Amino acid sequence: MTTEKKDSVSNVMQGIPASPGIAIGKVFLLEDEEFCLVQVDVPKDEIKKETGRFRDALTKTRSEMLQTKEKIFKNLGKEYARLADAYLLILEDPLITRDVVKKINEGVNAEYALYKVLEKVIRSFEMIDDEYFRERRNDIQDVGKKILRNLLGKERRALSEISSEAIVVGHNLTPSDTISMRENLVKGFVTDIGGRTSHTAIVAQSLEIPAVVGLKNVTARVREGDILIIDGNQGVVIINPEPQILDNYRREQDIQFAQSRELEKLRDLPAQSTDGHRITIAANIDNPDETKAVLKHGAEGIGLYRSEFMYFNRSSVPTEDEHFHNYSQVAKKMLPYSVIIRTVDLGGDKLGSIGLEGITPEGNPFLGLRGIRLCLKYPQLFMPQLKGILRASADGRIKLMYPMISNVDEVLEANKLLDKAKEELRAEGKKFDEHIEVGVMIEVPSAALTADVIAENCDFLSIGTNDLIQYTLAVDRVNENVASLYDPLNLSILRLINSVVAAAHKAGKWVGMCGEMAADPMYAMILLGMGLNELSVAPAAVPKIKKTIRNISQADAKALAIDVLESPNRVAIINNIKRHSTP
Ligand code: PEP
Ligand code: MG
Repeated sequence: MTTEKKDSVSNVMQGIPASPGIAIGKVFLLEDEEFCLVQVDVPKDEIKKETGRFRDALTKTRSEMLQTKEKIFKNLGKEYARLADAYLLILEDPLITRDVVKKINEGVNAEYALYKVLEKVIRSFEMIDDEYFRERRNDIQDVGKKILRNLLGKERRALSEISSEAIVVGHNLTPSDTISMRENLVKGFVTDIGGRTSHTAIVAQSLEIPAVVGLKNVTARVREGDILIIDGNQGVVIINPEPQILDNYRREQDIQFAQSRELEKLRDLPAQSTDGHRITIAANIDNPDETKAVLKHGAEGIGLYRSEFMYFNRSSVPTEDEHFHNYSQVAKKMLPYSVIIRTVDLGGDKLGSIGLEGITPEGNPFLGLRGIRLCLKYPQLFMPQLKGILRASADGRIKLMYPMISNVDEVLEANKLLDKAKEELRAEGKKFDEHIEVGVMIEVPSAALTADVIAENCDFLSIGTNDLIQYTLAVDRVNENVASLYDPLNLSILRLINSVVAAAHKAGKWVGMCGEMAADPMYAMILLGMGLNELSVAPAAVPKIKKTIRNISQADAKALAIDVLESPNRVAIINNIKRHSTP
């Protein structure tokens, strides 16, 4: 390329570290699906050719759709394959086959004609009152994009198409995109947007692949096939590095592999401080496949099973049996350890399209119908999960907990539904653990401030700092523009955590933390000092947190906690941590 100078000075980008480790590989660019369309006048004698081009694109789109339908049929069954029929019907609708051709006949290019026709249809769909029909506009838009791709000769890219080791570069990735990387050869990923505790980042950690997010314009800076280094520890991305830099990173990668092998030796040792105080280090998972990683890294249980993945990429609510089989499988594998299943926390940045009537897009989903609010409003969503969790509790040591609780009444209401679920199971003669422990996530400031009242009505508390920080500091956890304000060491956060721990203990309940804060060794020392009973982190982070706990006395950790709680700001807090960490 002719832009050597620019490349050599600006091939290093700083983003937000989202998942640790170093990855080196070739770029797989997930292009944004925005098409830039221009109107081109087509002379009369070219119109026939233009309509032919459009018809060819329709034929190609149809055959791609049939192939997709076949794949869905093979992998998911007949019921799901029928979903593809809806798309095929749109493709055959006269508004596509007739109206677009009519528009081309007016003397415009096929892309523009298609765009104009769809724009009109989509606008009229937006006026429809009925939510279900209004939402069909997305299907029409999707079909339109498929045709456009073929008209423009653009290849559709999907993560499942990756055939050799690659680094994925995208504007944004949804949690369901990230989940589909599981089967793939993705060595790491980087995105333009996102924050450290966005769910996309969390899924990357559970997959143990390095990731950097919030790079703003990385998609515009790289090309397919470029070599990329991702440093997920520092949040650095290097595009087409010099050979020397590449060598350095390869060496660093080897060192890190060796260090993690060393840490794995702690697998069977307890998380016990040098003065004999023991806490539990558990792991967070997003799906049952991760149980292997949990055990491999030596976690003593699952402190947070995010159940949302069961709701992704489907159009109906999972059944009680699906829940039961899924959780039962995990519970059995984890014995003798326990598994805390978090009831579904849809909303916020975890979107699903599970066909619940009356759900409309929200202006501010993080403050909207999310987590327990959604479940209480839609018992048809909540009850099958409660019953599935209860039934699985007969097969292992299962506990359940509610997300996004903002007041004690929500706990009482959820508990009522839980009692109802138990009654129904008794009547059906199905077994479950009558003494199942019920916990509440403390992730909303109002819940933290009333933790004493909440603790009286449950068996344990689990502090979800990912949300507690965003709601307390008014900092969107997925917005890279305010990422520097997202600070677990903000005094307000430390005070809230400390008071929640005290409230739980006063009520005679145990308290854990399952937010990302627990996975940082520096913070883990403070948390030990504050008296948390359990820290639950990504499976790969278990060894380093165990090591931290095993290297400090609880007395020192307590002194550190007292000091940081009296420090006026971040600088003073960090100084205190440094002072306590130097032997
Ligand atoms: C949290 O908010 O800290 C938490 C663990 O829940 P999630 O990250 O799934 O919102
Ligand atoms: Mg949360």
